[in-house]
Amino acid sequence: MTETAPARARAEIDLDALRANVRTLRAKAPAAALMAVVKSDAYGHGAVQCARAALEAGATWLGTATPEEALALRAAGLRGRVMCWLWTPGGPWQEAVEADLDLGISGLWALDEACRAARASGRTARVQLKADTGLGRNGCQPADWPELVAKALLAESEGLVRVTGLWSHFACADEPGHPSIEAQSKLFDEMVTYAQDRGVRPEVRHIANSPATLTLPDTHFDLVRTGIAMYGISPSPELGTSADFGLRPVMTLSASLALVKHVPAGHGVSYGHHYATAGDTTLGLVPVGYADGIPRHASGTGPVLVGGKWRTAAGRIAMDQFVVDLGGDEPPVGERVVLFGPGDHGEPTAEDWAQAAGTIAYEIVTRIGTRVPRVHVNTHEAG
Ligand SMILES: *Cc1c(COP(=O)(O)O)cnc(C)c1O
Repeated sequence: MTETAPARARAEIDLDALRANVRTLRAKAPAAALMAVVKSDAYGHGAVQCARAALEAGATWLGTATPEEALALRAAGLRGRVMCWLWTPGGPWQEAVEADLDLGISGLWALDEACRAARASGRTARVQLKADTGLGRNGCQPADWPELVAKALLAESEGLVRVTGLWSHFACADEPGHPSIEAQSKLFDEMVTYAQDRGVRPEVRHIANSPATLTLPDTHFDLVRTGIAMYGISPSPELGTSADFGLRPVMTLSASLALVKHVPAGHGVSYGHHYATAGDTTLGLVPVGYADGIPRHASGTGPVLVGGKWRTAAGRIAMDQFVVDLGGDEPPVGERVVLFGPGDHGEPTAEDWAQAAGTIAYEIVTRIGTRVPRVHVNTHEAG
């Protein structure tokens, strides 16, 4: 399978690892259903393949940010519950209702759009009312909640919508003991109780993302929405490593060494000459760059494994390529360079790249570009 991939670079996606991660997460939240969050092409891992594998491992919901992402899952033949939550006016509301998606609703304008789409399609829209319990991003403020709930109940009585869910999102679930966790949980309880007291009968109430699924069992409610942990990456180094949680990174990014050459001491390397060779040495050319999602901020710091040794991006990471100082070693051209993977063969991890670039591992995997082919392995479940 991997032999057929183009030689320059590839991102290998281990679907057995993803299935195992889903099972691990289900075991952490045994009383809740699991929504596999596959937005942004499954954090760069390939949405359709990852969605299928997650469902095989017991996820019963799929979640995306945009309706277009959710509609693409339907077009690929994925059935069952699919929720999307990042809406704008004039979006594909009617297509979404006709595709039986669950629509995250953060305000009155969105409820109006859902009702209009329900009328136009002659169907009932499934809506999930989102409470802003403190994140301060999307969601309905507590002061506006009574009106949203009342209007949703009215629309439900007219057969236009069915309120299938009440939900919210944490601001700091990855910071153990942060006071906002307790405050948001309490407010979510109150906003859910308010809606239920007035007659809302949600199928699912949910607030937990990956860090909450892993560390805050009191917040699991009926459903947990897991993204990053499913891809085998710890939500935050502060919480623990992926291994601490029994998770295995799913993506391995590698490239083929494109050139190996001898250079003398004092030779500048890459744009701006921010690196110069300390002595006679060998340089290796790694044929991926920031257009492929390799962060330019990791110039001079980004690690790779080549010829059994860790090497560091020497000088600037350019659009299509960067250079490593091989210290006189002469690995053959075409030698595999591993940028990141699970880490158990000595290679760096996405977390190492996040540290090198001053960002989070979410951004590392999500930004791997479309020029890098995804090669899905273990597409069929073993046994
Ligand atoms: C992205 C997202 C998630 C998943 O977050 P992770 O930290 O990756 O688990 C859950 N819920 C919402 C609303 C999201 O946007």
